[in-house]
Amino acid sequence: MHAPIQRYLDTVHESLLDIRGGSTKSPNAVLASQDPNLCGLAMTTSDGFTYTAGDAEVPFAIQSISKVFCYAIALQDRGFAYMDSKIDVEPSGSSFADLSSESGSGRPKNALINIGAIAATGQILPERGRTVFDKILTVMSACAGRELEMDEDVHSQDSQGSAHNRGLTWFLSSWGILEGDPNPAHDDYTKQCAIAVTARDLSVMAATLANLGVNPVTQERVFDTRVVERVLSVMLTCGMYDDSGDWVASVGLPAKSGVGGGIISVLPGQLGLASFSPPLDEHGSSVRGLAAHRQISSDLELHFVRTS
Ligand code: GLU
Repeated sequence: MHAPIQRYLDTVHESLLDIRGGSTKSPNAVLASQDPNLCGLAMTTSDGFTYTAGDAEVPFAIQSISKVFCYAIALQDRGFAYMDSKIDVEPSGSSFADLSSESGSGRPKNALINIGAIAATGQILPERGRTVFDKILTVMSACAGRELEMDEDVHSQDSQGSAHNRGLTWFLSSWGILEGDPNPAHDDYTKQCAIAVTARDLSVMAATLANLGVNPVTQERVFDTRVVERVLSVMLTCGMYDDSGDWVASVGLPAKSGVGGGIISVLPGQLGLASFSPPLDEHGSSVRGLAAHRQISSDLELHFVRTS
C-alpha cells in the first residue's frame, strides 16, 4: 500500500518542477529571498502515516495558514455564539488584506482574511502563566506533533511592514470588535504568521483537521469535533481568498494558502495534504501548490462532489 502512494507523490512532485510562473516578490525580505526552485509535497493519512516528496523538510513561514488554527483556538475558547457576533462566515470575494467587513458593525466577513484573523486572534484567552502567543504556539505544535518555533527574521520583517494590518486592527477597535488595547491582537497575529513549519508539519496539521481534531500521529485531541467542522466549512468557502470559488469548483476540498508558499487541503476522515513552493500568483497562493492540489484531487477523485 505504501509504495504505490509514495511513487504517486513522487510523480506529482516531478511534474511540478516543470511549472514556472508566479513571483517571490514580497515586502518581507526573508520571503523575497526564498529559493523559487524549492518544492515540497507531503500527505498524512488519518491512520498517521506521512508520505513526502522533494523539499518537504525545508522550514518556511506558515503565514496565513496559521489563521485556520487560531480561529479554531478562539472558537474553542469563546464558543460559537460569541465568535459569530465578532466575525461572520461569508466569503469576502476580495483580497486578503482588504477591509472586508459588514457595514454598520465592522464585523469582518470571515476569519481567514487579515482583518478577520486579527479579530480572531484578539479573542484567544491567555491561560494562567502563559501568554496568548505561547498558547498559539503550543496548540499549533500539538497539531504538528513537534515543537514549533517562530522565525525571528520573518517576524522582524513583518513587524516593520505592518502599517496596513495595524490600520485594520484600529478599525476593529473603533467598532468594538476588539475590546481594550487592540495592539496585542496585532502583535500576536504578526507572530503567528512567522511560525516556521515544513510541508511535513503542515500535512500533519492538516491531517489533525481531517481526523476531526485528533492528531493522527500522536493521538492527542487538540480541537473539538464541532470546532473542526466549522473551521473546515470556512476553509471550503473562504480559504483561498478571492480565488475560493475557482478552488471549490476545481479542487473541492477545504484549504488554506499562505504567502510563505504553503498550501494545505483536507479530505475529512481521510488525509491532510500540504505543499510548499515560494512563487505566488496574484491572489497570494503558490503557483505550483495550486497545481499540486488540483492534480491530486483530480487523480484521486477527492472533490466533495464525486462525478465518477
Ligand atoms: N502576514 C501576511 C499578512 O498579514 C499573511 C498573508 C498571507 O499569508 O496570505 O498580510
